[in-house]
Amino acid sequence: MLTKVLKINDESLKIAKEYILNGEVVGFPTETVYGLAGIAYKDEAVKKIFEAKGRPQDNPLIVHVHEDYDVDKLVEVEFDYVYKLRELFTPGPLTMVYKSKGVVSPVATCGLDTIGIRIPKHEGAQKFLKAVDVPIAAPSANASKHTSPVTAEHVFEDLQGKIPLILDGGMCEGGIESTVLDVTTDTPIILRSGLITCEMIKNAVGKCEYSQNTMADKVRAPGMKYQHYTPKCKTALFGRNQIEEAKDYFIQNKQKGLRVVYMCDDGIASILGENCLNLGKNASEIAHNLYDALHKAESIADVLIAFDVETGSDVDVGIMNRLTKACQRIQMEKL
Ligand code: AMP
Ligand code: MG
Repeated sequence: MLTKVLKINDESLKIAKEYILNGEVVGFPTETVYGLAGIAYKDEAVKKIFEAKGRPQDNPLIVHVHEDYDVDKLVEVEFDYVYKLRELFTPGPLTMVYKSKGVVSPVATCGLDTIGIRIPKHEGAQKFLKAVDVPIAAPSANASKHTSPVTAEHVFEDLQGKIPLILDGGMCEGGIESTVLDVTTDTPIILRSGLITCEMIKNAVGKCEYSQNTMADKVRAPGMKYQHYTPKCKTALFGRNQIEEAKDYFIQNKQKGLRVVYMCDDGIASILGENCLNLGKNASEIAHNLYDALHKAESIADVLIAFDVETGSDVDVGIMNRLTKACQRIQMEKL
C-alpha cells in the first residue's frame, strides 16, 4: 500500500474523510502526539489500528471527538466535578475515562464498561474530526513499543505501507501523550500523567490522586524491563548527580567504536558541552522535545545516554514516566 503524506487542507480532509468512512485508518496530528484514526463504531476499522501498530489486544483505545460533539451520547457522567474539568481543560490534552454507554465498538474499548474520551485542541485535529463527524478511535501512530511520533515523518517511518494516508500538521506542540484521568470514582484518579497535572486538577476541583502506577518513582526501580516509547538504539539513564559516571560511560562506548550521544536538559547540556541533544530549559520545552530527541538519537547514535529531568514542575512526573520507560536505568556496579 502506498502511504501518502498530505498537508492539512480542504482537499486532503476530503480524502481523509473518504478513507475513514470506508473503514480505513489515517494518521493525524494532535497537540500531544500523532494519532492513528479509525471509525470507532466499526470493529473492522478498529482492528486495522491494532494490526498496523502491532498493539496488544487488551490495551483500550481512546475515542476522539470534535469540540461540538455531544460526548454524553457515548458516556454516563457520574460525578459533577466532570463538568468543571470539561469547562477548564477540554478541548485539550486530557482524556477522561467514563462509564460507557456501549455505543462504540467493543474492540476499541477491549470489552471494558468504561471508555476514554478526548477532545484535542489542535486546529488540524479539530478540522479532521469535524470533517468526519464520527467518534474516532486513535492510539499514538507508532509501531507498538516504539517512541511515539511527534511529526508526520515519524509516523511515516513506522507505518509506511500499512496505512493509506498521513495528515501532516507539523510538529506537535505538547509532545507527550494526554493525561488519562479516571472520572468513574468520587476522587478523579490519574492513570497516565501528562500536561494536565494532578496539581491543576486539584486546584480546579479540590481533589485528585495518582493511581499506583503513575508516579515516576514507582517505575524507577533498576532492572525493570520497559516495553514503551523505546528508541532503536541502546539506552542508559543516569541521575542528575552522575555526570562523571555518565562521561566515563560515554568514553567506554566510544572506545568500542560506537556512536554515542547525550540527551539532557539545558542545565546539564551546559556542563557537558558537546554531543548533546538539548531538551530545553523548562518542563514544557522538555516535553515538546523529548520524543523528537529520542527519534534523532536512534538515527545518529548506537548508544543514548540520558539524564533524569527535574524542573520543579508537576509536569516532571509525566516526563519521567516516559523517560524511565524509554531508557534503561544504568546500574553502576555493571559499568
Ligand atoms: P495510547 O492510545 O497509546 O495513547 O494509550 C491510551 C492509554 O489510555 C492507555 O494507557 C490505555 O490503557 C488508556 N485507556 C484508554 N481507554 C481506557 C479505559 N477505558 N480505561 C482505562 N484506561 C484506558
Ligand atoms: Mg501509545
